[in-house]
Parts: sequence; C-alpha cells; structure tokens
Amino acid sequence: MNQPPNPRAHQIEIERLNKHYGAFHALRDIDVRVPRGTFVALVGPSGCGKSTLLRTLAGLEQASSGDIRIAGESVTRLPPRKRDIAMVFQSYALYPHMRVSENMTYALRLRRMAREAIEAATTMAAKTLGISPLLEKYPRELSGGQRQRVAMGRAIVREPKVFLFDEPLSNLDAGLRVHMRGEIRRLHDRLGATSVYVTHDQIEAMTMADHIVVLRAGVVEQQGPPLELYDRPANTFVAGFIGSPAMNILPARIEPDGTSARIDGTENTVALDRRFEPGRAVLVGLRPEHLCLLDAKADGELSGVIETVESTGSATYIVARLGAHSVCVATATRRRERAGDALTLSILAKEVHLFDPQTGLRLK
Ligand code: ATP
Repeated sequence: MNQPPNPRAHQIEIERLNKHYGAFHALRDIDVRVPRGTFVALVGPSGCGKSTLLRTLAGLEQASSGDIRIAGESVTRLPPRKRDIAMVFQSYALYPHMRVSENMTYALRLRRMAREAIEAATTMAAKTLGISPLLEKYPRELSGGQRQRVAMGRAIVREPKVFLFDEPLSNLDAGLRVHMRGEIRRLHDRLGATSVYVTHDQIEAMTMADHIVVLRAGVVEQQGPPLELYDRPANTFVAGFIGSPAMNILPARIEPDGTSARIDGTENTVALDRRFEPGRAVLVGLRPEHLCLLDAKADGELSGVIETVESTGSATYIVARLGAHSVCVATATRRRERAGDALTLSILAKEVHLFDPQTGLRLK
C-alpha cells in the first residue's frame, strides 16, 4: 500500500483539507503546496484556524476530510510519531525535572537510538544553537530566549523533514523576539528544512517567510510570497491585514472621466492608471507609506485636517480627517505639522488599490 516517496513531489501538500469540531467547520478546503526548503507562515486573526491547521499537520488533530502529503507520502492517517515532523510550541513544553541535555535527547532515547549517535546529535544541535554551556542546566535556570533555543534543539536532534512552530516567540520581549526571528530563519536555511510557522504577527510573517498563507474563519484568503501579498492583496481583508500601519480603505466613486475616483462626501480625487466604468462605486486602498505630503509630482491631491501626529523617532504617523474619513500617513522624515493644521497629500496612480465594495475583491 505504501507508495515510495516521489523525490520531485512538493515537500508539503495539503489538499482540500477540512476539519470539523462537531458542527463547527474550523478549516474549509485548505490547499497549500510548497517545495522543500520553504519557510511557510500561517497568519490570520485569533480563531481563524492557524493552530488547528498546524495541529492537523502534526497529527495532533484528525482531518475530517482531505489529504496531507509530506515528501509525496500521505500522512493523513498516520499518528504524530510516524510523520517525521517536529513541533516547537509557544510554551516550549520542556520537562522541568530534566536537564537541558535530557530534554533534547528524550525523543531519541525513546526511539532506542545508540548512545554515541545521541551524543553526536546533541553536541551538533547544541553547537548550532549556541547552547553547549547550558546542557547540564535545568529549564528553571534558563532565560526565555535560552528555553526557546532548547525547545528548538529538541526539534533539531530528530532531523525531521518538517518543522512546525506554534507562535514560538510570543512569550519573549520585543527585542529578543526580533533577534530570535533572524535566528530561526538562519537555522531553517542552514538545516535545509521545510518549516511551517504560525503567528498572528504579520511583520514576523513578512520578515521570515518565503510563502505566507492568510487565513480567515477557516478559509485561505490568499497565499503567496510576502511582497506579492503586499503589492497585490486579493481582497480588502488581506489589504488590511498585511502591512503596518494598515492600508486606508475609503468608499469612493469613479468620476465621469473614468480615470479618477472621488472619495465619498469630499471633493478629493485620486488618479487611476486604468480606466473604470464612470459612476461605479469602489473602495480605494491607500497605503500610509505611499501617501506623500505636498509632493509636487503628484498625480492627484487630497486635502484634509490633521488630527494627531505621532513620532517614534525613526517614523512619523499622521492621522488626518478627509471629510468623514480618517486617513493615516506614514513618513520617515521629521515633520513640523500639528493637530489642526491643514495638509495636502498626493499618491501615485500606480500605488492606488481598488476593491469592489460588495465582494471586497481586488479590481486593481
Ligand atoms: P489563536 O490565534 O487565538 O490561537 P487560531 O487561529 O490558532 O487562534 P484555532 O485555535 O485553530 O485558532 O481555532 C480555530 C477555531 O476552532 C476557533 O473558533 C476555536 O474556538 C475552534 N476550536 C479549536 N479547537 C477546538 C476544539 N477542540 N473543539 C471545538 N472547537 C475548537
């Protein structure tokens, strides 16, 4: 019955996967295919099904229907230990009464692997992760970042085909999170691994992944390379989810000339680089970082009144009122403007996104 693995197959193939919890439909017809060596991020708001998808991949949840293949072999009905997958949890799940070395080798000892092979694997993993001096310590003697590394060490020693990460950095402080982001990605590259990484943080997904899968209510809204999702979001949900601060999405109507759109309730128009049906209702999407303050080369002009100005030192965020709408502008330059000042904005026609107000789907 067991087919030999097909070396040309994608490393992970998820085909029409569905998961029901009783009457609740948690995952709907999920299709994801990625080649070996890919770093995949699963993102989406709380409750969208990220963990369910990861746990179903790991075999901790049973699929209701559909197929999961790893290196060409169906694992849908296999128990977790036969899937050649290692999972790194948010909580690290280290055994408190075991030393670091014992935590790392536990799975290998269960498998009755030869002692020398276990030692070689542990030494190598500890070296790779820079935790060799910690091998004799207990988890309670480690910092959050060190525990995180041990949890990864435990995954590495098993040399799995696929690594699964369930929000592994959410217990760390902001600085360490940024540092570990880079470490995990470098580790993935060094091991030639295929990784699936769950996060609700779209910046983490954008900076770490080769392939992002955006989930909402158990459905894949869009998947692809990070910049493709940023440049061409398939709908208003992805447009609002990918990118920070979020894209401004404003109701508008196509002008009689067909090549500009007027924001509802204002005299403000934005130029378009294609013709659309005059009079058509649309949603205009403007990324905060694409809005320029008083740019003479502008294709269109928007004027409003500043509500708030916030600076982080490296960036300034201005929220302005355009008629009944609030618009966020992000700029790297220091600004003198203050609340109550008038402001004029411009945006290049090619940077303007348009969506259908009924379906939310991308028009341009
Ligand atoms: P979060 O970011 O908050 O962890 P998530 O995207 O990982 O969320 P899941 O934990 O996968 O979401 O849950 C998806 C949906 O399935 C939720 O509505 C949740 O309530 C439901 N769910 C998860 N596990 C079960 C279960 N064992 N029984 C019933 N419903 C469940």
